[in-house]
Amino acid sequence: MKYVDEYREPALARRLLDEIAACAARTGGTPQRPLQIMEVCGGHTHSIFRYGLKDLIPRTIEFVHGPGCPVCVLPMGRVDDSLTIARQPHVIFTTFGDAMRVPGSTGSLLSERAEGADVRMVYSPLDALQIARDNPDREVVFFALGFETTMPSTALTVLQAGRECIDNFSLFCNHITIVPTLKAILDSPGAGIDGFLGPGHVAMVIGAEPFEFIAARYARPLVITGFEPTDILEGLLMLLRQIETGTARVKNQYTRVVNPAGNTPALEAITRVFELREFFEWRGLGSIDHSGIRLRFDYARFDAERRFSVPGAPIADPKSCQCGEVLKGAIKPFECKVFGQACTPQTPLGALMVSSEGACSAYYLFARRDDQVQQVRA
Ligand code: SF4
Repeated sequence: MKYVDEYREPALARRLLDEIAACAARTGGTPQRPLQIMEVCGGHTHSIFRYGLKDLIPRTIEFVHGPGCPVCVLPMGRVDDSLTIARQPHVIFTTFGDAMRVPGSTGSLLSERAEGADVRMVYSPLDALQIARDNPDREVVFFALGFETTMPSTALTVLQAGRECIDNFSLFCNHITIVPTLKAILDSPGAGIDGFLGPGHVAMVIGAEPFEFIAARYARPLVITGFEPTDILEGLLMLLRQIETGTARVKNQYTRVVNPAGNTPALEAITRVFELREFFEWRGLGSIDHSGIRLRFDYARFDAERRFSVPGAPIADPKSCQCGEVLKGAIKPFECKVFGQACTPQTPLGALMVSSEGACSAYYLFARRDDQVQQVRA
């Protein structure tokens, strides 16, 4: 398949791995203190495990799994709020499929549907808008979720609803933005990240400039990277070359998709419809300033939080959950006490086990060669 097969080419992967091994030997990482490379995006985490890249790189390099899976960082309180809205008898609650199984304190959207709520899976916010057109006597709510990658489609849907004066459509807005979260991780005590594989999909929308602070203020290199195996290996090599020479720049490996200036029409739609919230709660990471967005006043009539009364209460994760430590890279998923026992993809306690992009789910499904994972799963 064009644009896929050439990025899975074994000979190219072998060549990149040889160069990585040679470069890594000159960077000072050791098996005892490996270089810590954070892949920001859950899509990277999934590819690293699916293609076994973790086991192919030298033991002097370690992938640390970042917070870039929007489903994984959705806090329990927001899930509970979504259940409150979905329970209203006149509501059709629409959502992407992976959000349906995220546990709140009293259940999930999937269990709510089993109890009789009208919860429907959609592939796009435009599908939700069509359901609103088809059901003028019902309130249709879209569970808006994701980083800058999915914000433009939500913004364009709101603009379309405004043009058509569709007044039975609203958003439960949980869109989040990655940059303040990277700042929070770099500011957290003991943050030992040596370099970042930057999120290719987010950068496709926002460009490279918003990541410059990582090089300028924190002296860490970041390489915006694609999602195929040779993309990730080439992004890693570009990072190692910077670490070897003591430089810290933002570079772009994903040039076939990412324009350094971003996507101007998408950014304009986002800016027109949304504004930053003062703070937003992240599962496992707590409240992070300016990390979430909400509808601007001009579009407030599409805001489900204004139409429906929701508890809006912060709910702590169950004590046994260590999602926060995994998200900050402090522990590996298999070090969580409930990994593979009480918490599995079939019975997720934490959101990192729900989404296919979640680090715990990736370890559970693909980390076949990790002895500790094997022991837990045995
Ligand atoms: S195993 Fe489950 S509870 Fe533990 S960190 Fe992973 S998702 Fe969270």
